[in-house]
Formats: sequence, C-alpha cells, structure tokens
Amino acid sequence: MSDIQLVDAPAGVEGAGFFATSLDKAIGIARANSMWPLPFATSCCGIEFMATMASHYDLSRFGAERLSFSPRQADLLMVMGTISKKMGPVLRQVYLQMAEPRWVMAVGACASSGGIFDTYSVLQGIDEVIPVDVYVPGCPPRPEAIIDGFMQIQQLVKTESLRRRSEPKYQKLLASYGIQ
Ligand code: SF4
Repeated sequence: MSDIQLVDAPAGVEGAGFFATSLDKAIGIARANSMWPLPFATSCCGIEFMATMASHYDLSRFGAERLSFSPRQADLLMVMGTISKKMGPVLRQVYLQMAEPRWVMAVGACASSGGIFDTYSVLQGIDEVIPVDVYVPGCPPRPEAIIDGFMQIQQLVKTESLRRRSEPKYQKLLASYGIQ
C-alpha cells in the first residue's frame, strides 16, 4: 500500500470536473510553493541550514530548492548566524535589493536577539535594521525547527494580500525602518 497521502484541496468551489477559487488564493499557493531563499549565513546556524537543504531533510520538498545568491532573484531572506553591527548595513542593503514581495526569517538566537553575544559589537537582533516575519528560536535550531519556520512563512505567503506592499500597515512598518 502506498504511503502517499493527498492533502486537502484549498478552499474553493468544487464540482465534478471543475474547481474554482479566487486569483489571490491561486497566486498565494504558487508563491508559497516556489520560494527562492537567499541564505545569509554568517556562522554556526548556517551549518544547520546546510543540513536542512541536504537529502535527509531536503527543503526542496517544499519547493524551495532553488537558492538565490542574488537578492534581486530572491523572495525569502534567511538570516542565520551572529550579525555584527558592522554587518548590519550590509544586511540592510541586501534586503533593499530584494524586490517585493519579500519575506524575512531570523534563524536562531543570534539573528533573532543577538543570542549569547550581548556585547558592544553584535547586533541584538536583525529587527534592529530590517523587518522580520518569522523568528526561529534555538542555538542552533535543528533542521526541523528551520522547516517549521519555513512553513510559517509559507502560511503567511498564502494568506497575505497580493498587494501587501500597498497596505497601510506594511507601509507603516517599512517607514519605521526608514524604507520607502
Ligand atoms: S544561535 Fe547559536 S548556533 Fe546559531 S549562530 Fe548563534 S551561537 Fe551559533
């Protein structure tokens, strides 16, 4: 007997031979299952990301095997590792070079809050320089936790408005970071 299970169909109007849904839901599903992550890995959490991409955990099962090392061709910034204050402007520039729609994941304690490095030189969380959508706890988080964070991002992508960029709430968030 096959282990393959079918997932529930997305909400829509079903009937014999047809399925109707709204355009924003269809686009949300397409976006969520074809993310192009940009791994911004500076230290040990990056090793967990390598495990997440490798065959045992295999992020490509979620449609995200195509990593992008150019911000212009990425829609998910995954920040993994300790970010020094010197690196802050670089990270911000990478974020600014990404086109909308874009999402950000802070992977691990260092990216989320500075982790154990409460020192003069370490950024106490990347949300000091760019907005973050999902935080993954752990030092380091296991690949399961990274995958869970990724699935939270997928959920956001599926349910957010297609025009998030023009929503007042999002614009206010960007404005609070001095981003137009
Ligand atoms: S959270 Fe822990 S494992 Fe991850 S980069 Fe920081 S020190 Fe390394």
